[in-house]
Amino acid sequence: MVNAIYVWGMARAAGGRVLLRIEDHDRIRCRPEYEAALLEDLAWLGFEPDEGLHPLLRQSDRSAAYEAALAQLRATHHVYACDCSRTRIGGGIYDGFCRTRGLADTPGRGVRVEMDEGGDLLLRDRDGNWTYQFAVTVDDMDQHITHVIRGEDLASSTERQLQLRKMLGGSPAMVYVHHPLIYKPNGAKLSKSAGDSGVRDLRLAGVQASEVIGRAAAAVGLIQAPRPIAARDVKALFESRIPNPESRITG
Ligand SMILES: [Zn+2]
Repeated sequence: MVNAIYVWGMARAAGGRVLLRIEDHDRIRCRPEYEAALLEDLAWLGFEPDEGLHPLLRQSDRSAAYEAALAQLRATHHVYACDCSRTRIGGGIYDGFCRTRGLADTPGRGVRVEMDEGGDLLLRDRDGNWTYQFAVTVDDMDQHITHVIRGEDLASSTERQLQLRKMLGGSPAMVYVHHPLIYKPNGAKLSKSAGDSGVRDLRLAGVQASEVIGRAAAAVGLIQAPRPIAARDVKALFESRIPNPESRITG
């Protein structure tokens, strides 16, 4: 919800296009019913992707592209198999334990790439799923994305994505915007992937779409107090504060 306000608002204010991408790289967590609910919520709110509601790109259809990117990385960087469990790694940064073990890339093992800053990035996990970090980096390059607008919970992954992008030969000129999120009283974030955007409940309670947008905009400080805002008017919240791609060149 908040993400939609930022994405459409910034894109419209900058004269950009909004592309819809279904990030179902994680086959376990991303269920079709969540996808349908998300699309329905967006349509009800009045947010329309420029390519329509037919997803332009779906990560579960992209195995060949990810394989090709992996092959490209293997040719130029140190890519290696890793059989470490989450338990061994713990919650912290990966320590490079398998970097010099020379394990064969067989089913049941993950694949990592060595990175300058350490914390070698996992590209494919032990269950054979492409990781979020790897999939979005390849997708952003293939779709020629210039602005990535996402929640502040993903800010910590940006530097490694930029590094991976550089390793794949991508242009370093990208704008990343990390916006505030709305949290539940218990501190958990409202998650769109869990079909828990809050939009549905408000809609069923008879709240108008423009009121839902206005409440969310106020909750993250885009406006001082809630007032109805139509989806087509969210760009007014962002005019005069659009970052320029040249203003943040990293790499
Ligand atoms: Zn390992």
